[in-house]
Amino acid sequence: MTKLNRIVVVGASLAGLRAIQALRAENFAGDITLIGAENHAPYNRPPLSKSVLDGDDDITLPGAELLDSDWLRGRRATALSTVDRAVVLDDGSDVRFDGLVIATGARPRGFTTPPGGVHSLRTVDDALALRAELAAGPSHLTVIGGGFVGSEVASTARRQGIAVTLIDAGIHPMAATVGERAARWLARHHERHGVELVSGVRASGFDGESRVTAVRLNNGSAIPTSLVVAGTGVEPNTDWLRESGLKLDNGVVCTSSLFAAGESAIVAAGDVARWSHPLYGGALVRVEHWANANEQGAVAARNLLAGPEAAEDYSAVPSFATNVHGARIQIAGLPALGDAERVLIDDPAEDRLVVAFTARDVIVGAVAVNAPKELIRLKRAISARAAAAEIAA
Ligand SMILES: Cc1cc2nc3c(=O)[nH]c(=O)nc-3n(C[C@H](O)[C@H](O)[C@H](O)COP(=O)(O)OP(=O)(O)OC[C@H]3O[C@@H](n4cnc5c(N)ncnc54)[C@H](O)[C@@H]3O)c2cc1C
Repeated sequence: MTKLNRIVVVGASLAGLRAIQALRAENFAGDITLIGAENHAPYNRPPLSKSVLDGDDDITLPGAELLDSDWLRGRRATALSTVDRAVVLDDGSDVRFDGLVIATGARPRGFTTPPGGVHSLRTVDDALALRAELAAGPSHLTVIGGGFVGSEVASTARRQGIAVTLIDAGIHPMAATVGERAARWLARHHERHGVELVSGVRASGFDGESRVTAVRLNNGSAIPTSLVVAGTGVEPNTDWLRESGLKLDNGVVCTSSLFAAGESAIVAAGDVARWSHPLYGGALVRVEHWANANEQGAVAARNLLAGPEAAEDYSAVPSFATNVHGARIQIAGLPALGDAERVLIDDPAEDRLVVAFTARDVIVGAVAVNAPKELIRLKRAISARAAAAEIAA
């Protein structure tokens, strides 16, 4: 093991918390400092677009209660010096380290200076602000972007009886993530639940000064509305690393064992990490899913202690699950890497759909709707790099 006396973790959310828990589980005897920009204790984000909007306040992240005094809460890292091995904070002070975990996650890609009533959704404060607006009974909600967060908000709002329009730039929402067939199913599913879908257009701006009155579209039309949620994706929080010399390219570029490229005492984990995935021939991937941050935080911390020579590769199959209008949608692997998709189950009566994705005849991803057992089977096949012929329904 490399001798480390002081480890700094930047980002006090899921990946950062799991890193700290792993350091403790490994009996790391040195100092640990956690730096987190939010004022809240680490919490769970998935409920923010689901149960929290319905009034449930449980966003507990087990383990957060164990954080102690070496936690710089509400403090933002503004720069990193790899030469001095120091993280610079927003008050100008710095924190020295001999091991660093970068877990600064991602933030929404939003609109510059939108009028009131236009929301994005990343933090608990965002969710509480949106919840208050939904509770006030808006006449109409427009969701910009039909990714998972946008789809979940649309689903929650429909359940609350609110009229919803969902705008998406693709032919169908999420076609790039779940493939053509599952995206078509999702589009129909939204429509069956009363969501008005407007596809193949982009929001270009807003009408209304103090308060939004319409979303303007790039085809020249406008959608009158009284509330907007922008679910237009996220970008990794790497601004503070811009001058650090670390390799940045849609995230912190990392080796297969989560070390920042060219570094032996800096690791990254969670939404901010873009690592060389052993299962996909070393392709650089960045995954914005809970399970990834949950596992990577721990693996990155253990690897930091072990050093690059003894570190383990991070080769878990990416996985994601959500509920949209009552349907369980699960993804395993990376469907977007596929060059062909194959429908294994299409059962409209039971509302079940299973699609497998192959690249050069090897299974790389799967999407399942209301078919959890199939998803488990396909996840194993992805992990084993099974051939397309082995995955018949
Ligand atoms: C509304 C919503 C719903 C979701 N639903 C699902 C779901 O159903 N299933 C699923 O798999 N995933 C879901 N996710 C994604 C999942 O929550 C993320 O993948 C996970 O939170 C990533 O954890 P992280 O620790 O890497 O980053 P984050 O949770 O983004 O945390 C990063 C932390 O670092 C802090 N930070 C950033 N920059 C700095 C800085 N310079 N200095 C100090 N601190 C900094 C941030 O304030 C933040 O607290 C959802 C996310 C959202 C927002």
